[in-house]
Amino acid sequence: MTSTPGTVYLVGAGPGAPGLATVRAVELVGRAEVLAYDRLAPAELVALAPPGCELVDVGKSASGQAMPQEEIDDLLVGRARAGRNVVRLKGGDPFVFGRGGEEALACVRAGVPFEVVPGVSSALAAPAAAGVPLTHREVAASFAVVTASLAGGAQPDLARLAGAADTLVVLMAAERLEAVCRALVPAGRPARQPAVVVQWAGTDRQRSVRATLGDLPALAAAAGIGPPATLVAGEVAALADLLARAPEADAGPVEAARVLDSSSGPPAR
Ligand code: SAH
Repeated sequence: MTSTPGTVYLVGAGPGAPGLATVRAVELVGRAEVLAYDRLAPAELVALAPPGCELVDVGKSASGQAMPQEEIDDLLVGRARAGRNVVRLKGGDPFVFGRGGEEALACVRAGVPFEVVPGVSSALAAPAAAGVPLTHREVAASFAVVTASLAGGAQPDLARLAGAADTLVVLMAAERLEAVCRALVPAGRPARQPAVVVQWAGTDRQRSVRATLGDLPALAAAAGIGPPATLVAGEVAALADLLARAPEADAGPVEAARVLDSSSGPPAR
């Protein structure tokens, strides 16, 4: 595996723990001549850029705002046209709410070659870190990944999405946790349905709160949960009580069935 000058690499960095970056991501960062990254890219990965690499923090600008998407596109395309080996490092997976598609289209329009390197999305890593299997036999046979907010501040149709799958993973959840949880209940998810919100999953700053959909917003606010955080709602979230922590030696065997049965019945569809 190599890298080619004049190419834009749209690289998933994984959810934050350096060990969850792919071998290909580590290799490409190590050969980058230009590395564009933002706050969700793990610092340990950015630190692997070689001496002389141009580092561009596109999450920051002189005005304190994130660099506008058009400017990022121009930067990637411009540096690649100048023959540089360009790596755009993104949190999680570049094609999951990461605007990777927009950057890939900018390359296509400019006739610049590009490669997409998938990463471990927080949509998978955050539930795992909190002890929530997204599917579990006889409990959840499907999951959907949705966002709590859309471009320009628009709001997704959560009433429609609520029934899209047994387990619902909601990204960008921290900013609108109360509105999201409140929208899911009239849409058919019981207020007693188990739910977990996880912040900074997989890093040493990880925190999570497990409650019901009805109680979660207040408890998460009391715990000071903020971005980046991911919400997981569904019967599987009850398993966090058993799977989120190491087994205690003196606790004795636990009946998983009782944990799953204790809440709100079969998954809402
Ligand atoms: N492309 C990214 C998602 C970008 S959108 C991916 O595939 O993971 C940003 C959202 O991702 C955040 O609002 C949060 O919901 C989620 N997120 C990213 N990193 C996270 C982490 N370490 N822990 C929990 N959620 C995270």
